[in-house]
This record gives sequence, structure tokens and C-alpha cells, in this order.
Amino acid sequence: MPALSEVIAALDALWPPAGAESWDAVGTVCGDPEAEVSRVLVAVDPVREVAEEAVALGADLLLTHHPLYLRGTTTVGAHTFKGRVVHTLIKHDVALHVAHTNADRADPGVSDALAGALGLRVTGPLAPDPDDPAGRRGIGRLGELPEPMSLAAFAQYAAERLPATAQGVRAAGDPDAVLRTVAVCGGSGDGLFDAVRAAGVDAYLTADLRHHPASEAREHAPLALLDAAHWATEWPWCAQAAAQLDAISDRYGWDLRTHVSRAVTDPWTAHATSGPHPDHSGAPN
Ligand SMILES: [Zn+2]
Repeated sequence: MPALSEVIAALDALWPPAGAESWDAVGTVCGDPEAEVSRVLVAVDPVREVAEEAVALGADLLLTHHPLYLRGTTTVGAHTFKGRVVHTLIKHDVALHVAHTNADRADPGVSDALAGALGLRVTGPLAPDPDDPAGRRGIGRLGELPEPMSLAAFAQYAAERLPATAQGVRAAGDPDAVLRTVAVCGGSGDGLFDAVRAAGVDAYLTADLRHHPASEAREHAPLALLDAAHWATEWPWCAQAAAQLDAISDRYGWDLRTHVSRAVTDPWTAHATSGPHPDHSGAPN
């Protein structure tokens, strides 16, 4: 069985920590480098439900996409919810390791998994890394749909192919517009509209599209927008990461058992569809 330090060295080769954004907090949150690892759980969010799943599974390592602590802290006391996660993990000898924007940027990265879930043929990164001569690393991905489809059809198709969430998929644009090319970005992608416009794609699918960036993008050009739940756009990465770790385990004869958490940790849990309004007197200005 490999030591945690050996497994982490392999993860760092897949997703080099130097590739993370300067504001990010990637790497090992807790864990003994000399501890043996045989079972790994991969998840998007290091929340209590996932920590408890790792313990119930007998995992030695929990690998998550989102950091537990993004900013500095002065306590890991169990009176805080993040400290409770740390206590739960340490008490049961579960290490926590984070691959966040370094996994976004990698080849393959988080948006490759999203593109794969949508059946896109990836043609390159949306915002390529200037220091990658091969032009494969970077944030987001550009791709072609398996066949042209209307925005209405693509929204339904995406909702069916991504894991189920309360939000589903929102869309903006002419429902009958025919789409051939799509940019995707797992997670919050509304800072990438310049790159999306430069790419000249028919549609952009990401998460957390806020009012102003979305409204301005729609005013700018007839670009179709699709907004999925943040968790749903990143969850496909978990299976991709587990498969990468399985391949490494086979190569080194580690015999690791990898698992993907199916816990839906998107914070939104309900969705009500607006009904026809008798009048709009109560509508906000
Ligand atoms: Zn995210």
C-alpha cells in the first residue's frame, strides 16, 4: 500500500499546484504523509455529509475539488463547521487533499469532464495557458456538439446529461437558435465573456451566471447562455479524477480502491417555476 505522500506526489503530477491561481488554497489540508492509503473518496465539496461518507466508507483519503479553507483561519475547533470536518477526518485517519484551480487548468481538466458529460468534441481551451506550447491547458473548453441542435433542445439535453439538481439548467436566448459550437466552464464562469466572444461560439454553458454579466453579454451579441448548478458542472470531474488515480494505481501496483461521492452538495435544494401573474403590482422595480 502506498503512503499518503506517494499518492499526493502522483496527484501533484496530475494537477501541478503551481497551476493554481494565486488566491487559491490547494494541497493537503490534513493527513499524515506516512499513513498508508488503500481507499480514496473523490467529491466536489468538503462538507460534513461528504466527510461522514468518507468515514463510513473507510476511506484513508478524501480528495475534493473545493478547498475547505480558502482564507486564513485561527481555529480548527469543532465548534466551527469547518473545524468539525477537520475533527471528523482526523479522528478517523482520513486525509483531505484539494485540487481546485490547478485541476481546472490541467489537461485533462475539470471542463474536459464537463465537456465529456455533454458529449462535446473538445477543440481546445477557452482561455489557454500562455505557457503551454501544446495549447491544451487552460480554463474552460471549446467544443462541437455531436449534432446541431436548438438552444431549447440543448438546454434539455444538458439537463438530462448533468447530474440532477434542484436548479436544473437555465437558458437565455432564442430557443430556436441552432447551436453547433459551445464553450463550457465548470464552476463560476461569468468572468470569461471576453474569451467566449473571441472564440465566436454559439453558446456558453457554465454556472453562477449573475444578472449583470449575463445581461451585458446578451446585449453584446446573440450568444446563447446556459446556467447549470455549480456542483453539477464540476461533479463529472470526480469520475475523471478517480479514473486517473486508478490508472496510476495500476501502473504502480498500489491496488487503490477509488470511489466517487454521489452526494448532491449543491446548496440549492428546491426550485419553483413561476406561474402566470394576475398582475404585476407586487413586482419589484
Ligand atoms: Zn467550483
